[in-house]
Amino acid sequence: MTTARGAGVAPGAGSTSALDRYEAVIGIEVHCQLRTASKMFCGCSTDYDGAPPNSHVCPVCLGLPGTLPTINRRAVEHVLATGAAIGGTTPEATRWDRKNYFYPDLPKGYQISQFDLPLVSAGSLTFDTSDGPATVQIRRAHLEEDTAKLVHATTTEGRRVSLVDFNRSGAPLMEIVTEPDLRTGEQARRYAEELQLLLRSIGVSDADMERGQLRVEANVSLRPRGTEPFGIRTEVKNMNSFRAVERAIAFEVERQARALDAGETLAQETRGWSDDRGETYVMRSKEDSHDYRYFPEPDLPPLRVEPAWLAEIRRRLPELPAARRARYREALGLSAYDAEVLVSDPDAATLFEATLAADARLDATLDAKAVANWVTGEYLRLRNAAEGPISVGPGDLAHIVGQVAGGTISGANGKDVLAEHVATGRPAGEIIAARGFHQISDASEIDRVVDEVLAANPAAVADYAAGKAQAVGFLVGQVMKATRGQARAELVQSTLRARLDVPGDKVGG
Ligand code: ADP
Ligand code: MG
Ligand code: ZN
Repeated sequence: MTTARGAGVAPGAGSTSALDRYEAVIGIEVHCQLRTASKMFCGCSTDYDGAPPNSHVCPVCLGLPGTLPTINRRAVEHVLATGAAIGGTTPEATRWDRKNYFYPDLPKGYQISQFDLPLVSAGSLTFDTSDGPATVQIRRAHLEEDTAKLVHATTTEGRRVSLVDFNRSGAPLMEIVTEPDLRTGEQARRYAEELQLLLRSIGVSDADMERGQLRVEANVSLRPRGTEPFGIRTEVKNMNSFRAVERAIAFEVERQARALDAGETLAQETRGWSDDRGETYVMRSKEDSHDYRYFPEPDLPPLRVEPAWLAEIRRRLPELPAARRARYREALGLSAYDAEVLVSDPDAATLFEATLAADARLDATLDAKAVANWVTGEYLRLRNAAEGPISVGPGDLAHIVGQVAGGTISGANGKDVLAEHVATGRPAGEIIAARGFHQISDASEIDRVVDEVLAANPAAVADYAAGKAQAVGFLVGQVMKATRGQARAELVQSTLRARLDVPGDKVGG
């Protein structure tokens, strides 16, 4: 590749982008910590976050000789539920395999995993991108155990040591592997985001990337546009945000394109992502699966999945994000945007549903779109301004939305009531009564206030007469202030305009 080095031209400026010549081929592997009370093959608690090192261990997860694993049923159910949610297939019998390798965080010298008979095969997931919906085929989802954690530290004497914390050792881990179907960093990021939402919605994982509960690895290769065969891939690890996934892939695409342009042969290797430096770096050359000498785990029987068990898990699945978005749009008439905002925010979606349910128990008069507006607007604004979570009674929100929609109180007052309800927990009806809110829709009362405001603000009236249309906004604000926000806004607008626009009418005294 010819870059104008030293010639005062930014590298790549004027040259065609790598993506004009090459197409990226991307497959994603996700490791996800499952939400269970105990570890995968022993009774140790998984509640070790923040606990002292090596306080959640036993002979099994320390890998001591002579111990035997027992299977965590809940972890298996979580993988089966994930499989059902992605439309995958599950064989009636699967089994466990040993993946052999040596590393200090793996005391047994092998990891119990699943090799050629995963619990789930051939699913898919559809997600939205800026280019419209995309679907990725999911090759497999299997169950395995997590490793311990290495802690690299410096002692008070300045000695550098590596310590092993076994609290995480043996925690249940689900690995989900896509086909190499993805073509852009954005698709990869959006897939990972949609998968996170799905895993959270079905309750199998908290899937917090920053806490290592959702670890995303991207396999990236390039091929010249218009050609079929895949190029040599690198596997990128250590991305701990969705943004990092997209950035790391963009970096790899550029790096590989430059190497290919220079006629180099790429190495199949595992690379790390440095978020600070904004680049990937070599970690190690990539193993092939035969390096692991997989063989069936002799300490565990094959895992049978009775059809009735699978059917029960399927039956217990909640409404999935995609179905919920579609229902919000099609049955409730919400915009695609509102549906997306609600579904991607579980608290907002819960409040939305509960508010409609509360209304259904009362008079069932609320428009779902109005409720969605209040939730995506005022509720999220208040919550984002607060330090932690906030609490809104669904009946209270239903009451506020109903009062505003029915014209009993103004929208501005409705917002005040919601804010006070959030701050104090007082019922919305009580707040409205105590503050004496009622909407002023009486034309003669509004006429009277408009008169007063016009008389008190001759400068604004003169501005308007001189062609400054925005003076109306100021005058509307004055009327709302004089009525403590209770005047019906549309009526104030029309009254003011009528008064200001009448030629020759003496306003302002
Ligand atoms: P491993 O288990 O050794 O990482 P797999 O064959 O299971 O290897 O593939 C891992 C991931 O790499 C999958 O998501 C797959 O789609 C993806 N992948 C395989 N070949 C390529 C390639 N040439 N370019 C990009 N991704 C690939
Ligand atoms: Mg891999
Ligand atoms: Zn244990």
